[in-house]
Amino acid sequence: MARAFARSLLCERPDGRGEACGACAACGWFDQGNHPDYRQVQPEALEPGDEEPRRGEGAAPSRQIRIDQVRDLQPFLRVGTHRGGLRIALIRPAEAMNASTANALLKSLEEPPERTLLLLVSSDPQRLLPTVRSRCQGVTVFPRVPRRR
Ligand SMILES: [Zn+2]
Repeated sequence: MARAFARSLLCERPDGRGEACGACAACGWFDQGNHPDYRQVQPEALEPGDEEPRRGEGAAPSRQIRIDQVRDLQPFLRVGTHRGGLRIALIRPAEAMNASTANALLKSLEEPPERTLLLLVSSDPQRLLPTVRSRCQGVTVFPRVPRRR
């Protein structure tokens, strides 16, 4: 859902109901995973579409978001946007940041650059640092649970 939200915000011809058009250049880049104004930060063990970490063979990929992943985000947050629109970074799951990683993001959360949206997705926001939570605007999303027959 957060990806769909980001895609609709980056779309160059949104339909006015909050949906991306799926046909413009921005939608094309987004769908190919190379929109210049979009970054997704997640544990190595998580592929872009995965909800749960994959079981790796050999050396286990990290299940945490590493501090250098957040540091690597900083140049992206500082340069001007390529398309003159929003710049969006999606961090998921946000509770995969340990305390030092979360602290590395804190400055950006406190004073986000202009036209920048930081989306933190968490299924367990209580596990986020209070300093992170207090700098975010919370939106609760409930899954639609099928009715029992
Ligand atoms: Zn579009």
